[in-house]
Amino acid sequence: MNGWRNYAWESVTFSGDTNVITGPNAQGKTNLLEAIYMLSTGRSFRTRFDREIVGFDFSSAELIADVYAHDRTQTIQITIRPGQAKKILVNGVRKTAGELAGTVNTVLFCPDDLNLIKEGAAVRRRLLDNAISQIRPKYAELLGEFNRLYEHKTRILKDWREKPSLLDTLDEFSDALCRVSAQLIRYRAAFTARLDEAAAPIHKEFSGDGEELSLRYATVSTVTDPFAPARDIYYQICDHQERHRQAEIDSQQCLTGAHKDDLEIIINGRSARSFASQGQTRTAALSVKLAEREIFLAETGEYPILLLDDVLSELDDARQSFVLNRIGGGQTLITCCEDENISSRTGGKVLFVEKGRIR
Ligand code: ATP
Ligand code: MG
Repeated sequence: MNGWRNYAWESVTFSGDTNVITGPNAQGKTNLLEAIYMLSTGRSFRTRFDREIVGFDFSSAELIADVYAHDRTQTIQITIRPGQAKKILVNGVRKTAGELAGTVNTVLFCPDDLNLIKEGAAVRRRLLDNAISQIRPKYAELLGEFNRLYEHKTRILKDWREKPSLLDTLDEFSDALCRVSAQLIRYRAAFTARLDEAAAPIHKEFSGDGEELSLRYATVSTVTDPFAPARDIYYQICDHQERHRQAEIDSQQCLTGAHKDDLEIIINGRSARSFASQGQTRTAALSVKLAEREIFLAETGEYPILLLDDVLSELDDARQSFVLNRIGGGQTLITCCEDENISSRTGGKVLFVEKGRIR
């Protein structure tokens, strides 16, 4: 790492199991995770502007990493220079961020992910969309198509008063949107079922006292079975669509389709969104992420690197101990604030970060 945020020059070797990155506030713990995330996705999780990553006194930021995944070691090199396109090399060969994807996979959990439970449905749909897109390229394609159709239909509904002839094409777009929605819903329902199956036992152990976590996919009210063949779902959405056609025109909004769906998170039979405590919220959100990792393993034969930024606060000792010691499987990088006892509380490797240096 060279000129990477507050790291002037630093190198580090992680353990293949648990790594605990600790130190006082503002020393570079999250910056380190950001670097690993960049190696996996070609982008930052903190900023859309790469130039912000370049160290204040530096003209460029550079990462070089040897990564072992899919039974081989590869060298990834990323250079960020303000005003220039980011340069990504894998074994010396130039790649785009898209092509870098899959070289080494990560699952990230950062404080923002707590919103997963308490915020609006959009955050949960994004989780589903990101996760499914990674393992099902066809889904990413469908989602792109859905977004195009949705935007177009929304524009028709917004503008028809000025230009009534737009309404001539409305039914065509509605129909296409129902068709694509039906497919998205099947993918999402199937993925949610897998997530539910994987998350429940994790959450039970994590919470110690055997809390029951369950996940359910909620979609357009007329869809009776989201696992049914796409054709059946399509007909059921069309039904909803026809009933709401006039309301869509009047309200100038798209009222039918997969854009309203939600992932319901339930703890001990009650909606987590309404009733979960801080610690419960944190635990459930993390369980969902850990479940995502299990699905990744099943799909690719390999655990992704798990990046956990600041997850320990607000967890009691038992739940902290679960994170520090019992996640297991693949490689895990956990950041947490300074704690003298940390070494005695984890079996993993402890890295101490201070002012952009790692010990
Ligand atoms: P916390 O425990 O508060 O989360 P942290 O160890 O995770 O702290 P980081 O988010 O990694 O801290 O940031 C550490 C420092 O990096 C901050 O003080 C910030 O000012 C500094 N920093 C951010 N961007 C740059 C940059 N481009 N160049 C130099 N320093 C930077
Ligand atoms: Mg931090």
